Amino acid sequence: SREWHLLSRPVGWPKPEDFALVEAELPQPGEGQVLVRNEYLSVDPYMRGRMSAAKSYAAPYELDRPMQGGAVGEVVVSHAEGIAVGDHVLHFEGWREYAAVKATQAVKVDPETAPLSTYLGVLGMTGLTAYAGLLRTASFKEGDIVFVSGAAGAVGSQVGQLAKLKGAARVIGSAGSAEKVKLLTDEYGFDAAFNYKDGPVAEQLRAAAPDGIDVYFDNVGGDHLEAAIGALNLHGRIAICGAISVYNNTEPAPGPKNLPRLIQTRGRIEGFLVGDHYDLQPEFVREVGPWVRSGELKYRETTVEGIDNTLEAFLGVLRGDNTGKMIVKL
Ligand code: NDP
Repeated sequence: SREWHLLSRPVGWPKPEDFALVEAELPQPGEGQVLVRNEYLSVDPYMRGRMSAAKSYAAPYELDRPMQGGAVGEVVVSHAEGIAVGDHVLHFEGWREYAAVKATQAVKVDPETAPLSTYLGVLGMTGLTAYAGLLRTASFKEGDIVFVSGAAGAVGSQVGQLAKLKGAARVIGSAGSAEKVKLLTDEYGFDAAFNYKDGPVAEQLRAAAPDGIDVYFDNVGGDHLEAAIGALNLHGRIAICGAISVYNNTEPAPGPKNLPRLIQTRGRIEGFLVGDHYDLQPEFVREVGPWVRSGELKYRETTVEGIDNTLEAFLGVLRGDNTGKMIVKL
């Protein structure tokens, strides 16, 4: 059974030498555990944080140990009540082919209800992030003008479409290529979109949002955040979800220069972590599941095949190779 190890903590952009795909013995599930043959692995931006030693909300990856991450697979051995051989489970022992997982840390998922990969994306962690961040942290309400960055990614594409489905007055997205921008307006129903690489974000946002914005869902930080503060309307709300533009920085990035605008706008900025919002999971699945099934809420996945390509898939997320959720299929 092969598994990915972190060998050294990356400085700046992660390099292949910081990692190794290691051949290990097949894990032996103990009492109350199951052996899972992973079929889909999730690679996510937050994993960059876990590669560093800095204290954060998730513990740093240990060196020379298998890395963790979301995964879905088939149970091939069960020493646990309530989970049978042949069942599929969502769990957290990704970055490897086989995992021994405690039954208490495995959630049964049904491939008949939805494709297995969607439990990592549109109906999984990134979906709930979009739902909780928009509805709870950003206090979205009907009639809001919403701006979301990283808008062609897993979280961002769902934020924009959710806002539309829930009655936003206007939804604006930014992404890093002409194809992604076209996808936003032509398929996902965004009212406007721009490529942040085409020119200053503040200028492009002003043109796309002539009446300002009420909500900014921030996936990228940096210039985008400053531009959003600049465009914020009275009582505007900013949900800080991620800051992918600075994850590989070796020096702290400068903060927005225009924070005092929040005084005039009575604006609010609030960070959130999806892990604090799992109480919303049932409501999320009840509301969003039917929209996904009916096609009213569209999603894309970028699928990379093979355990050996997992690192490349992860680096691809940081580079923007993905449209929608990046998934590794084993
Ligand atoms: P995505 O699917 O959005 O993939 C990341 C995308 O970021 C890339 O496709 C790329 O798209 C974009 N990107 C990369 N570099 C930059 C840059 N310098 N400036 C602008 N965009 C860039 O990932 P997720 O949907 O999984 O995650 C989106 C964000 O949400 C991340 O910041 C992540 O850390 C955060 N997150 C936070 C959670 C929480 O609990 N707070 C939970 C889950 C995710 P492009 O081609 O457009 O550049």
